[in-house]
Amino acid sequence: MIVMKFGGTSVKDAEAINNAIEIIKTRLVRKPVVVSSATSKTTDSLIQLGKSACIGDGKKTKEILDELRERHLKICRELISDSQRQKNITGKIISIFQELENIVNGIFLLSELSARSLAKVSSIGEVISTNIISEALSDRGIENEWVDVKKFMLTNDNYQNAEPMFNEIKEKTPEVLCPIIEPGKVAVTQGFIGSTYEGITTTFSRGGSDFTASIIGMAMNAEEIEIWTDVDGVLSADPRIVSSPKIIDEISFKEAAELAFFGAKVLHPSTIVPAIEKNIPVRILNSKNPKFKGTLIKADVKENGFTIKSITSKKDIKVINIYSPKMLFAHGFLRRIFEIFDKFKTSVDLITTSEVNVSLTLDGYNRIDDIINELSEFSEVKMEEDKSLICIVGNNMKYERGIEKKIFQVLGDYTISMISQGASVINLSFVVQRDEMDSVIKTLHKEFFE
Ligand code: ADP
Ligand code: ASP
Ligand code: MG
Repeated sequence: MIVMKFGGTSVKDAEAINNAIEIIKTRLVRKPVVVSSATSKTTDSLIQLGKSACIGDGKKTKEILDELRERHLKICRELISDSQRQKNITGKIISIFQELENIVNGIFLLSELSARSLAKVSSIGEVISTNIISEALSDRGIENEWVDVKKFMLTNDNYQNAEPMFNEIKEKTPEVLCPIIEPGKVAVTQGFIGSTYEGITTTFSRGGSDFTASIIGMAMNAEEIEIWTDVDGVLSADPRIVSSPKIIDEISFKEAAELAFFGAKVLHPSTIVPAIEKNIPVRILNSKNPKFKGTLIKADVKENGFTIKSITSKKDIKVINIYSPKMLFAHGFLRRIFEIFDKFKTSVDLITTSEVNVSLTLDGYNRIDDIINELSEFSEVKMEEDKSLICIVGNNMKYERGIEKKIFQVLGDYTISMISQGASVINLSFVVQRDEMDSVIKTLHKEFFE
C-alpha cells in the first residue's frame, strides 16, 4: 500500500480536488490511503474564528463562518455532478457547520478559548475537506470510504501540539485501514487531527498533515509515502525568497530531517521520524506537475564528497541570552537551564555557551514568560526578538576544509552570531538580523547554486 498526502493548495478548490482525484486514479492498484489537509487557508480562518468569538467580535465571527461555509459549498456545487450526491454532501457540510457554530457560540458566551476548544475548532477543516474528497471519488465511480482518523491516531493531551502514542497507533491503524484497502477501496482520512484515549480532539502542530501521513505509512508498513504539494520537490532554498531555486533529486532521511527541523516549510519537522523507523521512502511531488519525479527522501543516497543541498531559515525566532557570573566554576548550570525548558515543554534549536553565559534560540515559545521568570531566579536573562536563524544543510560538511571560510567570506558584510556546527555532519547554522535574512539567503544561494 501507499500513503498519498495532499496539502492545502492541492485541495484548495474544485479544480484542485479534481486534479488530486486524477492523480489518485493513477495509483489505485497500489492500494492508497489518502490523507488530506484542510483546503488552503482554512485552518488559519478557523483559528481566527475561535479568537474572534472569544473576544466577543460577533460580526467578524459571523463573517468568517459565512465565508468558510460558502466557499466549501461552492466547491461541492462545482465538483459533484450527481444530484443525489450533491444533496448528500451539501447536507453533510451544512451539519458540520451547524456543529461548528454551536461550539463557536459556546466560546462567544464564555469568552474563553482553551487549547482544547481551539484544537477542536481548528480540526474542522480536515473533516470538511475529506468528506468532500470522499464524495467526489464516489461521484467518479471510485470505491472509497471516509475514515475518522481519531479511531487510530491516538495522542497525548497536549491539545494543539499533540504527541502520537506510537504503540497504540501501530496496533489500531491496520485494524481500521486494512479491511478497507485490502478489498480495493480507497481510504480517505484526515491529516493534522488526533484523539486522546477519552476521544477528545487534538491536533499536531501547524503543517502536521505530513506527520500524519508518515505515521500512517509507518503503522501500515507502506511501500512509499507521497507528499503532494505545490512545488516540484525539496528545493535548494525557499522559493518565496530565492527566484530560481534548484530541485533536489534525492536526499537522505538525515538531511531531510535537518531541513524540515530548521524551517523548510515543505515538510513538517516531525515527518521523517516515523519513515526512518521502517525505512519507508518519502517522495515530495507537485500536484500541478504530477508527471515530474519530485524529490525522493530515503535512507542512503550515494554521493561522493561534499555538497550543499539547501539553505533553510526560521524568520521569527527568539534568542535568549542567559548570564550567570555565580556559575563560574560551578557545575549544574546547564542542567538547571534545561530543566526549565523541559518543564515548559519548549524545545531549543541552537545553543552556544561559555563558562558563565548561555545563548539559545527558540521558535515555539508559548510559555516564554514563565521560562524567563524561572531563569531569572539564578541568572540575568535578555531576550532578542529581531533575529532569524539560517541553516545550511549538506552532506559531509564537517569534513570539507575551508567551507566555513567560503561561507563567512561571502557574508562579510552581515552581522552573524551563534555559529553552530559541531553536532551534525550535515548542518551549519547561525543567527542573523531579521531584516537581513532574505539578503543573506540570496547571497549564499548565489555563491553555492547559481
Ligand atoms: P502544503 O499545503 O502542500 O503542505 P506547504 O505550504 O506547507 O504546502 O509547503 C510547501 C511550500 O513550502 C512551498 O510552496 C514553498 O513555498 C515552501 N518552501 C519553503 N522552503 C522550501 C524548500 N526548501 N523546498 C521546497 N519548498 C519550500
Ligand atoms: N491544515 C493544517 C494547517 O494548516 C495542517 C496541514 O495543512 O498540514 O496547519
Ligand atoms: Mg504543509
